[in-house]
Parts: sequence; C-alpha cells; structure tokens
Amino acid sequence: MGPLDETRRVALVTGSGKGIGRAVALALAKGGVPVAINYSRSESEARATAEMISEAGGTCRVFKADVSKSDEVHVLFEKTKKELGPVSILVNNAGITRDSLLVRMKDEDWREVLTLNLEAAFLCIRESVRDMAKARWGRIINISSVVGLIGNPGQANYCASKAGLIGLTKSVAREYGMRGITANAVAPGWIETDMTAGLKPEIREAMLKSVPAARPGVPQDVASVVAFLASDGAAYVNGQTIAVDGGMTMV
Ligand code: NAD
Repeated sequence: MGPLDETRRVALVTGSGKGIGRAVALALAKGGVPVAINYSRSESEARATAEMISEAGGTCRVFKADVSKSDEVHVLFEKTKKELGPVSILVNNAGITRDSLLVRMKDEDWREVLTLNLEAAFLCIRESVRDMAKARWGRIINISSVVGLIGNPGQANYCASKAGLIGLTKSVAREYGMRGITANAVAPGWIETDMTAGLKPEIREAMLKSVPAARPGVPQDVASVVAFLASDGAAYVNGQTIAVDGGMTMV
C-alpha cells in the first residue's frame, strides 16, 4: 500500500479540552484533518473545543479517557477508529505538574507525573503504530518541555518525565522511520495556559527577562509547529526536539 491518502488522515490529541491541546486540535482540524478530542474530566471544555472546530468547518469527535490507564487508551483508539478511522497523527499533549522541592516530593507526586506525562505517551504510541505502519504513513508528536532539556528546581518529576519523552521520541523515530512514520518532540517554553496561570508576578518578571522574544508564548505558537510536523512537508524531520520558547533556552 502506498502512502496514506491525505483524505484519510485522522488525528488524536490527548488532553485537548483546553490550552495547547485545544489549539493543536483546532489547527489540525483547520488543515482539513478529522480530530479526536480527548478529555479525562471536563466534558464541557472538550465540547467547547469541538464547538470551535465545528465553527471553523472542521470535523471532530469527543472521547473521554484517562490516558494514563492502558485499558482506557485501548478503548479510546478503538472508538476513534470506528468513528473517524485509524489514527495517523498522534499528539501526546496531556500533562500535569505536581511541583515541590525534591526532599518534600511525595511518592505519588513522582508517580502521577511520570505516569501521565511519560507512560501515557508510550501507551498511546503502542496503540497507534500498527495502523500507521500498515498505512506506511504516520506522525507522532510528543509535547515535551524546555525544562526536559535544562532542568528546573522544584520540578524533578516533571523534568524527568519531559526528558523521558525525548528519549522515547528518538527510539520510536529509529524503530519506525523505515515505515513512513516520524516521531518528534516539541518543547514549549513559557506558554500562557492554565498550567502557568498561577505563576507568581516576580517569577513571571524574571522569566520574561530570559525570553529574547520579550513575551510569553500563546498556545497557537506551539500549535503551528505541531501542524507543520504533522504535514507532508515535515516527512524528513525525524527524532528531533523543537523548542518553541521565543529563544529562552537555545540548547
Ligand atoms: P493545561 O493544564 O491547560 O492542559 C493540560 C491538559 O491535559 C488538560 O486538558 C487536562 O484535562 C489534560 N489531562 C490531564 N490529565 C489527563 C488525563 N489523565 N487524561 C487525559 N487528559 C488529561 O496545560 P497546557 O499548558 O495546555 O499543557 C499541555 C502540554 O504542554 C502539557 O504536556 C504540558 O506539560 C506541556 N507544556 C506546557 C507549557 C506551558 O508553559 N504551558 C510549557 C511546556 C510544556
């Protein structure tokens, strides 16, 4: 079978009820790709994403699943396949923080973050690569973070999970490159979403000084890079980590 016909592409974006995931779902849908919107708790947020996609003339379905649980991930991909078709563009976006200094970090804070931010991506990739390999076309995009590259005090769990995603990305890129599948990571810097809404003013000021672009990013800044990586134009970009941080890290 030749490369997947562009009209048969289907995207799944984990945690796409708000923030970066919502912007990614919208960008892909605007590009003509039917999108599976995933949420774990807030159905109303996911419905709002779906509404935006419909208003933009796109196609989507909304699926509830806690992507840190392998049985729920399996059902999520089954339902998506049934309603939209096999997933050919997977965006592992769902993520959480449970920040504290290392000596005060509870076992469950470590485990919860590693399980959702890293293991869930593995589970979703495992569910999707067979169909991608069969179609000889696939795009896997993992939302990492610049702190996965440079570390951050108070975020040992989060940084480890985001660095782990980069290793996972490179392994998938090597394992599946010959099947027409690319795997890349996007490492956002400081993006204005609910995740960063609670930052103290003095931290915001200090961070702003470290961003050459002199502004925080918006979810669309990340979404446009994800949309590029999901496109045919990015066919020869594989195993990379692309920072979207206004020049904050430049590693
Ligand atoms: P956000 O909190 O707005 O969104 C996170 C999403 O993940 C939410 O929709 C949430 O419902 C979903 N989610 C949480 N647990 C889930 C579960 N078990 N199953 C399915 N979905 C679940 O934050 P955001 O800033 O949009 O973050 C999106 C991604 O970008 C995350 O992986 C985050 O680590 C990463 N990131 C964000 C920033 C930033 O500055 N905002 C920077 C670097 C990386």
